[in-house]
Amino acid sequence: MTSVDGSRLKKTLLEMSQFGYNEQDHGVYRWGFTEADMAVRKWLLEQTKAEGFESFMDGAGNVFFGLGDFHQAPAILMGSHADTVPAGGIFDGALGVVAGWEVLRVLQQSDTPLSTPVWVVATAEEEGRFGGMMGSQAIAGALNPDWLMGAHDADDVYLKDAMAEQGLNVMDALDAAWPPERLKAFFELHIEQGPVLFNKDIQIGAVEGISGVFKWIVHLKGKADHAGTAPMNMRSDAFMGLADFAHEIERIIAENGTDKTRITVGKVDLKPGSPHTVPGEAIFTIVGRDMSNEVMKELADACRKALSAIARKHRLMFEYEEVSWLAPKDCSAALTDLIEEKAAARKLSCLRMPSGAGHDTQFMAEITDAGLIFIPSVNGVSHAPDEWSHWHDVEAGTNVLLDCVRAVATETIGDSLGHKRGSA
Ligand SMILES: [Zn+2]
Repeated sequence: MTSVDGSRLKKTLLEMSQFGYNEQDHGVYRWGFTEADMAVRKWLLEQTKAEGFESFMDGAGNVFFGLGDFHQAPAILMGSHADTVPAGGIFDGALGVVAGWEVLRVLQQSDTPLSTPVWVVATAEEEGRFGGMMGSQAIAGALNPDWLMGAHDADDVYLKDAMAEQGLNVMDALDAAWPPERLKAFFELHIEQGPVLFNKDIQIGAVEGISGVFKWIVHLKGKADHAGTAPMNMRSDAFMGLADFAHEIERIIAENGTDKTRITVGKVDLKPGSPHTVPGEAIFTIVGRDMSNEVMKELADACRKALSAIARKHRLMFEYEEVSWLAPKDCSAALTDLIEEKAAARKLSCLRMPSGAGHDTQFMAEITDAGLIFIPSVNGVSHAPDEWSHWHDVEAGTNVLLDCVRAVATETIGDSLGHKRGSA
């Protein structure tokens, strides 16, 4: 059985981790469209070209490299994102890019002629600096001009300006869409970013689907009052409303959710924000997740009812803005089966599981059969400098990726895949 070269894989991943690496906190800083993010893209273009692969960058900043002409026949695409959150780890995203690269090297060196083009993508801006998953959305044709012009980060830097600074025109992202007929399948290898595989001591996760997520910004408005003179029973205390809602979350999940449901109040702002003043306003976020869009609707409805009742009780005004609603996305059942089968063939333990976090796969699944492979994250840590995965797991996951790609390229399973939009 042909396998990947574990030490070459490790060396390349460590090289990639130097881009945006911070000596002080040991975090990686490759926030979308910053200097370090663009430097790693340039490095990928040059290095892969030097190794004999074709490479190019599209209008969205996605870097592609591979073997074979995808204009001639539908391609197998592998990959993940090259950007990171600020102070992120070295595996999140980079793993899928480097693993794809290693698979290409093995295919290049093997004698089997490729009947299917095999390419890797290092997607742009997956971590949501500008609020989306821009690179894979561009590939899936899921971007629109209004969003591109209006998207900005938390510091009010506009996407169009950040891209212009790097010599890119934001509108060119619209030309980055792949016609579905050019794709046969997409594979992403990613760290789990949660504790399930690590705690159960399982080597491979075959991801069945990615949970949906909605985000609200909620305003509870009462009346700011003197904390000494306003009697307790005459207050319109916005914080008390928020506290009541926090206590309702457990009931809402029990009545309307599933064991996959997550509801989080992650950001809170109290106004006027003085120790001696009754909070007149509470502004906070609610992020809800589940694997079913119907359940998500019920959860949202239950949150709305709970907040209305709480607002009445505390004499508050309740308003909310739905900032985003991403429906859950199923991975390709055929590819999930294939991942499980290939893991078993290498005697690796494997668990079918959902993904609580969002990934490029969810947009790629809109246009082709998409499969997502997880490897364990030590202690479930991610989006932090101490994010870690064991090298033997990195190698095992990349071998499963290799086997899956070879199967789709050479076996009959490939015949039934792809053409999502065309055949629908
Ligand atoms: Zn990621």
